[in-house]
Amino acid sequence: MSENIAVLGLGLMGSALAGALLGAGHRVTVWNRTPAKADPLVAEGAIRADTPAAAVAAADLVIVCVLDYPATRGLLEEASLEGKVVANLTTGRPSEARETASWVTGRGAAGYLDGGIMAVPQMIAEPGALILYSGSRTAFDRYQPVLAALADSLFTGEDPGLAPLLDLAMLTGMYGQIAGFLEAAALVRSAGYPVGEFTTSLLVPWLNAMAAQQPHMAAQVESGDHATEVSNLEINRSGMETLVRTFQEQGVRPDLLLPLKDAIDRRAGRGLGHEGLSGLVEEL
Ligand code: NDP
Repeated sequence: MSENIAVLGLGLMGSALAGALLGAGHRVTVWNRTPAKADPLVAEGAIRADTPAAAVAAADLVIVCVLDYPATRGLLEEASLEGKVVANLTTGRPSEARETASWVTGRGAAGYLDGGIMAVPQMIAEPGALILYSGSRTAFDRYQPVLAALADSLFTGEDPGLAPLLDLAMLTGMYGQIAGFLEAAALVRSAGYPVGEFTTSLLVPWLNAMAAQQPHMAAQVESGDHATEVSNLEINRSGMETLVRTFQEQGVRPDLLLPLKDAIDRRAGRGLGHEGLSGLVEEL
């Protein structure tokens, strides 16, 4: 079924979203602060709106994807939201999502969804793209067929802050992995070994094997039982010492590893060296 949708914000991500909705056969009205960015979409059949308010007026579902939440609010300020569903796919903090949900519904909107996009623009409408949603379950159920044109969609809960929180948690995992990669790459490079060869043949298979352990650690985090038969904090403390000294001998800074070493030292220093690594969550 063809739906009336507005897409506000046509940066790299917003343009990809609007393009996917056009491709799925919807009537898409677009607006962007810099009007020229709408040109390729208009050439594909999108309708250009001169103001955000006009774009909102033309649609039942309003998708916003701009730099941040202040920009989101700024462009919805003049629009009549009565009866509209607003899906804000802008990245932000959970508290901003909750405030925006109240603000939007307080102005008569039929529902608010917050979304966390787990994809780059090139992945939109392709297999592997995921968008996390939270907020109005009714709005999600109503528009799930439309949202499916963008990416796999997962409704995470009625607290509007949940999707952004889970989005940021996933980014946290990613940054941790990137930190580990960068330290490993610097160490390997210091020995003159090819970093590409190391990464493909050794590191990636190893990280995949280690990632398979994480559900077990997650169960320990949930239960609070950090007993281990894998490796305790004392062993990891000693391993970290070896690592850091090796970095120093190779002339590489272990800066991205040191916070983890500190947490291990702190917990083991409090007599909990028999625990496994999952115990470190209690230090956070
Ligand atoms: P871009 O820099 O390509 O686009 C930013 C968009 O925000 C543009 O449309 C810009 O308008 C608009 N904008 C900025 N400030 C304002 C303002 N004050 N009022 C109105 N519009 C404004 O970024 P992306 O499209 O990549 O990102 C958009 C959102 O999507 C961000 O929240 C980002 O975190 C999120 N996202 C992006 C991903 C990516 O890989 N790119 C991945 C996951 C999420 P103008 O064209 O006039 O400058």
